[in-house]
Amino acid sequence: MATIINGKELAKKIRQDLKVEVEGLKQKRITPKLAVIMVGNDSASAVYVRNKSKACNEIGIAFEEFLLEENTTREQLLGLIEELNQREDVHGILLQSPIPKHLDIREAFNAIDDKKDVDGFHPINVGKLAIGEDCFISCTPAGVMKMLEEYKIEIQGKNAVVIGRSNIVGKPLAQCLLNKNATVTICHSKTKNITEIAKQADILVAALGKPKFVTADMVKDGAVVIDVGINRNENGKLVGDVDFENVEPKASYITPVPGGVGPMTIAMLMINVVKAVKKY
Ligand code: NAP
Repeated sequence: MATIINGKELAKKIRQDLKVEVEGLKQKRITPKLAVIMVGNDSASAVYVRNKSKACNEIGIAFEEFLLEENTTREQLLGLIEELNQREDVHGILLQSPIPKHLDIREAFNAIDDKKDVDGFHPINVGKLAIGEDCFISCTPAGVMKMLEEYKIEIQGKNAVVIGRSNIVGKPLAQCLLNKNATVTICHSKTKNITEIAKQADILVAALGKPKFVTADMVKDGAVVIDVGINRNENGKLVGDVDFENVEPKASYITPVPGGVGPMTIAMLMINVVKAVKKY
C-alpha cells in the first residue's frame, strides 16, 4: 500500500502560511498584486482564472483581471503587458493560455518583465533554472518538487523518469530533478521502449495527458509515482495519466487525481506572487 500524497491538504497549508506572510506585508503597507490577462472566451481558461482569483482572495493577494476581446491586436496586448510591467502596484503578471491564434504567445510571454513572470515562462527564468540560479519556476513542476520535499522523498542519486517534455511541465520538472541530483531520463512521443525505461525509475512522473498510460507493468516495486495528467474519461470523470487502481499497490508514494498535483499548481503560483514582492 502506497502513501497517498495529499496535494489538497498540502496546498491548504501553503495558503494558510502565505496568508500570515501577506498580513505581515500589509502591515508594511505592501499588498501583493497579481494581474491576469485573458484574451478571448475560452471556457476552461475562465474556470482556471476564477480558481486563481479565489486563491488570491483567500490569502489576501490583490487580483486584477484584464479580459481582452477575441480580436485584440498584437499592439494592444503588448501595450497592456508593458503598462503592467511599469505599474508599481502590480507584482505578478500572468497571461492565461491559450490566446487567439492570430497572436504570438511566445512573443507575449517574452514581453513580461522577468521579475513579474510568476508563471516562470520567460526565457530568463527558464535559463536561470537551467544554471541553478534563484528564479521563478513554472508552477506545476514547482508544486511537484514541493510535494517531494514535504514528504521527505529522497531525490539525490535516484533514477527519475519524466514522461512528457512540454516547456511548462516536463522539461522544467526534469531540470528541477537534475538540480537536486537525480539521474534524469525524459521520455516523449518518439521514445522507444518506454515501459523498460519507466521500470528503472525510483521516481516516475507522468505528464503526457493520456488516461491510464502508466500501467502497473511499467512501475518498479516501491517507486514514487507522480501523476501530473488531467484528463476526462469516457464518463466525464477527472482522471490522471496513471492507472491508479493497479499502480498504487506497487508504489511507495503516489499522487491521486484529483487532489494531487492540481491544487499544488495554484498554491505555487501564490508563493511566486509573494516572492515577486521581494524582487523589488
Ligand atoms: P503537452 O504540452 O501536450 O505535452 C505532452 C507531452 O507528452 C509531450 O512532450 C509529448 O511528446 C508527450 N507525449 C504525448 N503522448 C505520448 C506518448 N504516447 N508517449 C510518450 N510521451 C507522449 O501537455 P502538458 O501541458 O505538458 O500537460 C501534460 C498533462 O498534464 C495534461 O494532461 C495536462 O492537462 C496536465 N497538466 C496538469 C497540470 C496540473 O496543474 N496538474 C498543469 C499543467 C498540465 P512530444 O513532445 O514528442 O509531442
